[in-house]
Amino acid sequence: MKAALISIDGLGYDDLPVFSRTESLGRLISSAQIARSEAITPAQTYPCHASILSGCYPEHTGVVDNLSHPHRLWQWWRSAINVPILTDHAAAAGLATASVCFPMTAGASMDYLVPEIWAEREGDDPDPVFRSACSEKGYAYYERHKEKLDWMRTPGMDLFAASVFVDIVREKRPDIALLHLSYLDHQKHLHGPSASSVPHAVAFIDKLMADVLEVLDDEYAVFIAGDHGHRMQERPLSVSIDGIEVHPAGMSAEIYLDGMGEEEAYESLVSTPGVRKVFRKRELGQIHLPSSFDLLVLAEDGYAFSQSGSVTPSGHGYAGFEGPYPPFIAYNLPYGFKRTECSLVDEAPTVLRALGIDMPGCDGSSLI
Ligand SMILES: [Zn+2]
Repeated sequence: MKAALISIDGLGYDDLPVFSRTESLGRLISSAQIARSEAITPAQTYPCHASILSGCYPEHTGVVDNLSHPHRLWQWWRSAINVPILTDHAAAAGLATASVCFPMTAGASMDYLVPEIWAEREGDDPDPVFRSACSEKGYAYYERHKEKLDWMRTPGMDLFAASVFVDIVREKRPDIALLHLSYLDHQKHLHGPSASSVPHAVAFIDKLMADVLEVLDDEYAVFIAGDHGHRMQERPLSVSIDGIEVHPAGMSAEIYLDGMGEEEAYESLVSTPGVRKVFRKRELGQIHLPSSFDLLVLAEDGYAFSQSGSVTPSGHGYAGFEGPYPPFIAYNLPYGFKRTECSLVDEAPTVLRALGIDMPGCDGSSLI
């Protein structure tokens, strides 16, 4: 048995009725096993994918934001995750590995690797960026399909990702293959938090998945994961307090003390309009966060942290335990899920178990 893990960014459990009416994913969902998966906190794309990849919470991955601290650069690189990821275990077991446009995999040790990454500025030549981030065998597939890329934008990136993935799977039949699609998330940000608000994105994803599922055929167990759901957000929340540094992550923000004491910062933040809850440093471990920053702030419903003074109609970055929850779907898997409630950290150990591999030392546990 081989395994594929496909991340559909922004896919929520509540979206499944809409996807059930589509041709390809609808057929898959009708005969799949489905668990409701708690996102990690903050429910942001890169922290969530670090946990999906590693089976570990942010307190062990070290990833708490899409962007790095203090330079605020996209955390494209595998090296930003402090623990082993599922393809490390698969490679150690002698299996062939592939991954296409999966966040936080740049520079990872895989056979066929084309990570999510883009040139710093629109119009810059992406070749050197991909040359440094892809595996040698992956770069050949990048070159074959790079004309489909439209810098960091979707749907170009998803057309590229699906094309590269289909060719790698058809030609090389890797034992484990990862794919990430972003268009649904991007369109939800612009048009609303549910799949029903973006029917064109649902139809687009389903069309790509038709080709992906065809090439995966019966040899692969297929796992489909969402990283987080979406919520409405109408009001930007800009916090500017002397003595602290605020890193907005949608509906939450990490706070770094910069001259102010923790208790004073706590009091200032907790009395800020639009702030709902503040976690002190000693409380971060209770929600599986590391102590690499000082406080975590959650916004009230309808608010999102923003430095620009504007927000998109929908977003995330909420506390994972408060929902919405993404789904974790298994298709063509010859084992039954033992439970229907799980966490993102349970997903990597489940995928590896389907391949007969244990994942010692991770925070999650296999559903099979
Ligand atoms: Zn995401």
